[in-house]
Amino acid sequence: MRLSSFGEKFAANSGISGLMDDLGAALSDDPTLLFMGGGNPGRIESVEATFAARLTALASDRERRHQLLGIYQEPQGDRVFRRELARFLTREYGWSVGPEHIALANGSQSAFFVLYNLFAGRGSDGVERQIHLPLCPEYVGYRDIGLSENFFSATRPRIERLDGGQFKYHVDGEALTVSSSAAALCVSRPSNPTGNVISDEEVALLEALARAGDIPLIIDGAYGHPFPGLIEPSASASWSEQGILMLSLSKLGLPGVRSGIVIAHPDIAQAFARANTVVSLACGTLGPQLLRGMLDDGSLMALCRQEIQPYYRERQQLAVRAVEAGRGNLPVWIHRPEGAFFLWLWCEGLPIDSFTLYERLKARGVIVLPGNEFFIGTGEDWSHSRECLRISYAGDRETIEAGIALIMSELHRCYAEG
Ligand code: PLP
Repeated sequence: MRLSSFGEKFAANSGISGLMDDLGAALSDDPTLLFMGGGNPGRIESVEATFAARLTALASDRERRHQLLGIYQEPQGDRVFRRELARFLTREYGWSVGPEHIALANGSQSAFFVLYNLFAGRGSDGVERQIHLPLCPEYVGYRDIGLSENFFSATRPRIERLDGGQFKYHVDGEALTVSSSAAALCVSRPSNPTGNVISDEEVALLEALARAGDIPLIIDGAYGHPFPGLIEPSASASWSEQGILMLSLSKLGLPGVRSGIVIAHPDIAQAFARANTVVSLACGTLGPQLLRGMLDDGSLMALCRQEIQPYYRERQQLAVRAVEAGRGNLPVWIHRPEGAFFLWLWCEGLPIDSFTLYERLKARGVIVLPGNEFFIGTGEDWSHSRECLRISYAGDRETIEAGIALIMSELHRCYAEG
């Protein structure tokens, strides 16, 4: 098989796809493994039942069923849903947003592929531009997304040590410079992998830098405002026409529906939709049809507040307690959990690297993600990048308690062996 450079890059089983294959193989060999590795949302029966009832209602209505199954959407996606979302954003946050600011996609991952490549890479002026990550570590799904090499640049965070064995990353305002080759800034808020939420002041700083460089600030809100809202209450929702907000229905419990949302200046929304039409022809109808009416009548936000957010709050507390109970005097720091559904551990001075730790944990029966994968675009060697671990606490209580006990036990072994 002779592949193009595109083929060689995208068909390569390296980086995250290699890791995902490894996870999948490990799980099919041993389904009893405690799985704390993926980005899957938790299974919340009441939420599942709500969507199942709506699905049944859709399937039994002759006209809605046809809209769901039998019609291609227009390029920016289901107009009724976009109108409803625009009304909601205006009502809730006071943003001047209409349906023309919104484009839908088949999952936010594919939306990122299109969007990033619209901005970064070689421009018609011959300049190679990068997506700049102002606070790295960042979402591993960005890593292999670029159609060209050297697609990302990044700034390391400032680390603040907190009481209670916790720490927190901050945007390092002194180190952060936006070069003329930056195509856009992008930050996940809340962060996958760390659960960090950059403050409103940090968002304002990034907005100012983006404005000064005449580039967009992309905020990946897959876990944040407005839904599912797994985000520190003090953080406000933020968007301006200079910015791009990316949303997803996945963390509501609908990753199988593959629905992503881009909110941007109408020129960007339209450019996105044109490029997305080349890739996908049209967006799926299921997400918009399932949610239709739920923003207008408040039931989606009620579902988030009453079912989804309390579920993850409880799991987060359980996970933190389990780490605290197991770590003893190890120099294992928990990133202050402020959102999403991951605990990010910094195992300071870890005698082995995080990938070796991942392998050893897999052998002991628990799957996590090694932190090194999330350090994208930093380009230089940094011991911290080999000392971190991402643990998902989206699963059931037994998995969280047993998995974290195993992780802590293995960490004691690693440090003891030196
Ligand atoms: N952004 C972040 C931060 C994520 O964690 C994920 C998935 O885990 C995505 C984007 C992509 O999500 P989806 O393609 O399911 O919308």
